[in-house]
Amino acid sequence: MSKRDYYDVLGVAKNASEEELKKAYRRLAMKHHPDRNPDDDKAEHAFKEAKEAYEVLSDANKRRAYDAHGHAAFEHGMGGGGGGAGYADMGDIFGDIFGDIFGGGRGQRGPRRGNDLRYVLELDLEEAVFGVEKQIDIPTLIACEPCKGSGSEDGKIETCKTCQGRGQVRMQRGIFAMQQPCPSCGGRGETIAKPCKSCHGQGRKQSQKTLQVKIPAGVDTDDRIRLQGEGEAAPAGGVAGDLYVEVHVREHPIFQREGNDLYCEVPIRFSQAALGAELTVPTLQGEALVKVPAETQTGKVFRLRGKGVKSVRSHGTGDLLCRVVVETPVNLTGKQRELLESFEKTFEGEAGAKHSPKSSTFFDGVKSFLDRIIS
Ligand SMILES: [Zn+2]
Ligand SMILES: [Zn+2]
Repeated sequence: MSKRDYYDVLGVAKNASEEELKKAYRRLAMKHHPDRNPDDDKAEHAFKEAKEAYEVLSDANKRRAYDAHGHAAFEHGMGGGGGGAGYADMGDIFGDIFGDIFGGGRGQRGPRRGNDLRYVLELDLEEAVFGVEKQIDIPTLIACEPCKGSGSEDGKIETCKTCQGRGQVRMQRGIFAMQQPCPSCGGRGETIAKPCKSCHGQGRKQSQKTLQVKIPAGVDTDDRIRLQGEGEAAPAGGVAGDLYVEVHVREHPIFQREGNDLYCEVPIRFSQAALGAELTVPTLQGEALVKVPAETQTGKVFRLRGKGVKSVRSHGTGDLLCRVVVETPVNLTGKQRELLESFEKTFEGEAGAKHSPKSSTFFDGVKSFLDRIIS
């Protein structure tokens, strides 16, 4: 079987950038990853092929050699040196790219760890503020019951003879010696004489897991709750991964949250703003009274101490900030219109400056501005 061109393998152009290579490799590796395609030889082959192609093309020196000589560059000891000089540890490259997705664990010896999982949990603001218990269903790999996750029918597990339990073997490819997962045991370092019939020796199965999750009071969007050991079961006898429940708080019709403070807008009539009033405002704990003094301008913010969110990390509690917004009256009755018209008349002349200082200075400013540009 002739070897495929490395660029073809990754599906990129000959002049692909490092970033493009990385992206292409990542996509292929995700697709063909053995953890996602157990017992699939084709996927395994595609995975190894992509890995090898990326290993060469992501190294500037090797890429140059490959561009010049093709696969021959690595088959006939080009470039001299030999032995240690070109040694590449596949495990490191893998860890570098997949550390964030597969939670590390690759290329390590000893029992393999199951993958970590992430679950986005949508909460209402009230649930996030006061805490809640939620039931979540997650599709995941769970430990096989008949064999208790060992993968062995009779519970007998032997050290792999090919790799002496190391889980990795060193392969010579041209001048490069590479560490690869042991083909006999799939990197586990152990072999099972009698594989469990239920899971075919995998020790785990695809299933749905239902969990009760306690969300503490005060959490906010992007907070993560780690549930140790609730991630994917490990292949045959390893340690399960963790589950990260990531909180996402839905928008609230009344309150906006910023840290532990809450904001809300409270509409008031302009007569209330002028005369002063006692307003009933909503809080998450129920209603509260806010005394709005006379001559309150629109946009003024009133702070209700301790009516915000109790912090999930400290003993502090945030405040509720109510911003009053003066509402212009609409659908006036005849009587209201009459009153407002005579009210408006009282602003004529000198009185205007006294009763609406802001608009007076504004219009004075406009007048002198216009005078200036006209003259
Ligand atoms: Zn082995
Ligand atoms: Zn089993």
